[in-house]
Amino acid sequence: MADLLDGLKPTLLMGPGPSCVFDETYAALAKPTIGHLDPYFIKIMDAVKADLQTIIGTKNRLTIPMSGTGSAGMETAFVNFTEPGDRVLILTNGVFGKRMQDVAGRLGARVDALEFEWGTPVVPEAVEKQLEQGPYSIVAVVHAETSTGVENPVQAIGDLVKPTGALYLVDCVTSLGGIPVTMDAWGADLLYSGTQKCLSCPPGLAPVSASGQALEKLKNRKSKVPNWYLDLSMIMNYWEGNSRAYHHTAPINMVYALYASLRCIMAEGLEAAFARHRAMHRKLAQGLGELGLSMYVREECRLPMLNAVTIPESVDDAGVRSRLLKEYGIEIGSGLGPLAGKIWRIGLMGHTARPANVDRLLAALAACMK
Ligand SMILES: *Cc1c(COP(=O)(O)O)cnc(C)c1O
Repeated sequence: MADLLDGLKPTLLMGPGPSCVFDETYAALAKPTIGHLDPYFIKIMDAVKADLQTIIGTKNRLTIPMSGTGSAGMETAFVNFTEPGDRVLILTNGVFGKRMQDVAGRLGARVDALEFEWGTPVVPEAVEKQLEQGPYSIVAVVHAETSTGVENPVQAIGDLVKPTGALYLVDCVTSLGGIPVTMDAWGADLLYSGTQKCLSCPPGLAPVSASGQALEKLKNRKSKVPNWYLDLSMIMNYWEGNSRAYHHTAPINMVYALYASLRCIMAEGLEAAFARHRAMHRKLAQGLGELGLSMYVREECRLPMLNAVTIPESVDDAGVRSRLLKEYGIEIGSGLGPLAGKIWRIGLMGHTARPANVDRLLAALAACMK
């Protein structure tokens, strides 16, 4: 085993996640493992919760990292707050909206999907019309659609959903830490994220936040939450209060890692981090333009941390990506679903979004496309 690990070389991670990890976060992973009920660990848990509330823009008491990757956050949001027969509306314009449909459908929800063309944003006027077909118990949307590079208008959608009484669920896996996430201002009731995108931490935890209205729904369920591991009504008792009841063993060192990443982000300042993402996006888009490449998504709804780039007809998609990785140690992402072969997905997430990294990619890309 050790031999295999000795062969690991750092890759410049410029795909759709994971992203480059802060040095402080790597150091945190190597700190001594202590007990999951140790009072010192509980101090770290409380600090993580406080930083998560700040970065998510919420006062929700239930703001915690779930064990598992971003998809465990998605599963948590649906499994706790949906009961069989509930009507759920999912606004879909990419892979992750589709995944939500699958997750909600498996729980016996009656899922309506309002679909939008991949590469374009959700249109609030269409949502307004669809809401007349309600009432829905949950309306869900992805803030930053990582499969296409589009930002959805989550504030405008929230303004429409709130008066209907539905729980408003927003996937912030890719957006959190890269662009403003203001859960309470959006009127969102449920939100989840992941550690390996703009938080620049390895994959393994899924920050989740739930509003008072959402917790009311959880309390009044007719049936038990059908998944023991992700049952928030039990997990809450470990993350809150004085008794700290054992549910499952927290991934101790991953919690240290998330703590360190959040501290790095807070030290830079959220506004500065967002500005850096925007500046690196502009630098990348300009450099790509100079190479004769164009962006797939129109400017008003482009994400800074996930850049969809149209692959010219004459260029060998897989060939370029494989040379970038083998010869230059740089990973970029391919297109998914209908966009496979049509776009590259270049990530500028968290610690990856630095001028030297953008320059290194542009130079390597120029060489690989010759
Ligand atoms: C990455 C991602 C997920 C899934 O997260 P995993 O960590 O891969 O489980 C969900 N939603 C969005 C928008 C993502 O980008």
